[in-house]
Amino acid sequence: MRTVALPTGESVPALGQGTWNMAERVQQRKNEIAALQLGIDLGMTLIDTAEMYADGAAETLVGEAIKGRRDRVFLVSKVLPYNATLRGTISACERSLRRLGTDRLDLYLLHWRGDVPLAATLEAFQRLQEADKIRHWGVSNLDLEDMQELDAIAGAAGASCPAVNQVLYNLTRRGIEFDLLPWCQGRRIPVMAYSPLEQGRMLGHPVLRDIAADLHATPAQVALAWVLRQDGVIAIPKSGNPDRVRENRGTLELILTAEHLDKLDHAFRPPTRKMALEML
Ligand code: NDP
Repeated sequence: MRTVALPTGESVPALGQGTWNMAERVQQRKNEIAALQLGIDLGMTLIDTAEMYADGAAETLVGEAIKGRRDRVFLVSKVLPYNATLRGTISACERSLRRLGTDRLDLYLLHWRGDVPLAATLEAFQRLQEADKIRHWGVSNLDLEDMQELDAIAGAAGASCPAVNQVLYNLTRRGIEFDLLPWCQGRRIPVMAYSPLEQGRMLGHPVLRDIAADLHATPAQVALAWVLRQDGVIAIPKSGNPDRVRENRGTLELILTAEHLDKLDHAFRPPTRKMALEML
């Protein structure tokens, strides 16, 4: 499995698995658990979840999927901004740990920035690290200005820098390439690309289909290979379908040529100016 280095030097898989919209339909549960377990067996051992997903039920489902496999998984969860006070973050983390059936998260993220001062959430993350309840902390949906503010706060608090910034990034959402992505790369903070398939909406695009046909691959594989074309980027596609998990894993076998990348740049234009960070 290709890996990406966190700022501490620890390696995590470049291709992981998302869980948003899992645990929403009882009849899908068996497949969703099987899909996550197959992904782990195929090396997609980074699993991203959140207290928000299915009101905690996605974490419970992940807990079931990783039972007996916990040590092979790099487990990521997120605290909601309204819970992200000093005490609120600690309680939210403890609830997540219970649902996940584990005593430690590998990475805990602030889901997006709300009204709680970043310093309070950071202090909670530090306390959780001291208590060995989380190994790394990070953020999600923070644009460049927020990252710079956080950088100053973390520096003043003697804290490490965030382990990742998880943001929306795919062929149809390239805004971060203008400033946020190079800034994170310069700091060696990986960008964890969420909705790398634009939730499936882009997969019928004729250029993606042409390139996929040329490579004997699928549009989803081309879209993921494009996200993973550069260092310091992790992708976390979600699939509750084992066949698609296998397909997504196949992405790492794909090599996009300069010609393919040109065609994609033409069809999905890179940003030429600052664009506010988009969120889903
Ligand atoms: P994705 O871009 O990963 O797309 C998921 C959708 O694509 C699902 O409907 C899935 O269906 C389908 N799909 C997956 N693989 C394939 C394939 N090979 N071919 C065709 N369709 C496919 O969207 P998400 O929004 O789920 O993003 C991924 C993860 O990122 C989330 O699950 C979540 O963990 C995280 N996230 C974080 C956010 C944040 O604010 N921090 C916001 C949004 C997402 P099926 O399951 O039926 O295969």
